[in-house]
Amino acid sequence: MQHDDLPRLLDEVRKYVDEYQRNLKDRRVFPDESALAGLQSFDEPLPDGGTESAEVLAQLHQYGTPATVAQTSGRYFGFVNGGLLPVGLGARWMADVWNQNTALYVMSPVNARLEQVCEQWLAELLGLPRGTAAGFVTGTMMANLTGLCAGRNELLRQRGWDVASEGLWGAPPFRIIVGEGAHAAVTRAVSILGLGTRHIETVPMDSHGRMRADLLPDLDESALVVAQVGNVNSGAIDPVGEICRRTKESGSWVHVDGAFGLWARVLPRLAEVCEGLELADSWAADAHKTLNVPYDHGLVLCRDRDAMHRAFEASGSYLQWSDQRDSMRHTPSMSKRGRAIELWAVLKNLGRNGVVELVEQLCSMANHMAESLERHGFEICNEVVFNQVLVACEDDQLTKETLRQLQSGGECWCGGSQWQGRSVIRISVSDWTTSRAEVARSVAAFVTARDAAKRTG
Ligand SMILES: *Cc1c(COP(=O)(O)O)cnc(C)c1O
Repeated sequence: MQHDDLPRLLDEVRKYVDEYQRNLKDRRVFPDESALAGLQSFDEPLPDGGTESAEVLAQLHQYGTPATVAQTSGRYFGFVNGGLLPVGLGARWMADVWNQNTALYVMSPVNARLEQVCEQWLAELLGLPRGTAAGFVTGTMMANLTGLCAGRNELLRQRGWDVASEGLWGAPPFRIIVGEGAHAAVTRAVSILGLGTRHIETVPMDSHGRMRADLLPDLDESALVVAQVGNVNSGAIDPVGEICRRTKESGSWVHVDGAFGLWARVLPRLAEVCEGLELADSWAADAHKTLNVPYDHGLVLCRDRDAMHRAFEASGSYLQWSDQRDSMRHTPSMSKRGRAIELWAVLKNLGRNGVVELVEQLCSMANHMAESLERHGFEICNEVVFNQVLVACEDDQLTKETLRQLQSGGECWCGGSQWQGRSVIRISVSDWTTSRAEVARSVAAFVTARDAAKRTG
């Protein structure tokens, strides 16, 4: 088969990109029925013969584009899904053309160097100890898994147990302590690591969604303690300094799940709330949420580089280690793309002040949206400390129906959740393009949805 000239093909792609961007502000956020029905065009048996590249991409554009969720429209508030900074995508496109496998230094010196640079910049930016090691993974799920894996192995190693060779068969007893408001990704990591979710000791949370540090159990032997910076519903930040201080004395390992909230650390007004998080042993954060780096991009940070390296040891006669940075020693992956390349571009583009501005803007739009919804008679159920807003109507029934109307309306998109026994609509402002205009349109959509819900109810 004849393959295409890459630059010429990318010119085709450019046209589709332009069109996508042009329509972004006018189109529905969630695709309508006819756009979803168009996906049937992909249901066909694997063809025997090939199809011209231009035709393949044309089909993708014709049926794929309309069925996308417009997550970069400024009116997408679902889950905690970040937007897209242009410089990140530009760097990613360059890196994609380079197609670097970044497992080892000898495969990609440029990625290895940029990982090193980003590692230092992140430690400085987030106020973590000098020399903190970073791994570049797919998201916070994997970052949590990676940090907890390093912690589990290290705690057992200190008691003379080598998890790598012995596994957990007959290992010394081990505790795992997690806040009541922990994210499903933490429970999942515990399950994958063979620690058993049934064995998790849960610490109650307060009415804001913060772990009650005063209710931490006494720790007489080593445990993995997981703190959370950014409750996935309310955005609340655990008293992380207190948690670290209370548990570190016993020789325990504190891991911080800071998927979107670790970036709160850069805000001077939240300095006190985040105080002491530098005392933890490992941290997980996403670059693809608050920082608006393209998907998929998560960060694991670890105080003890050797613990990280030991957890991900590998041998093979064909592997060529270097005295430089070999990326695969920092993550469970071997082959992977050059994530540090786009992260470097975003951090260099923003600088420290730009990061602060970006995070503050998301918070300020969340506050603006909360105030505006309140003025229109909605109830705000959480203290808006970061970028998360929980909204309710007079009763659960009306809240649920309003959410259904909102989702089908297409003007904006939010998810739902349960908060303190009530149904809520959950707003996460995580896209840099969310402006006051987007908020105004979205608030109007809330009012329309509630009116419609009242009529159907
Ligand atoms: C989003 C999130 C995760 C999972 O992160 P992914 O990037 O989806 O893997 C974990 N913890 C918290 C608090 C989150 O908000």
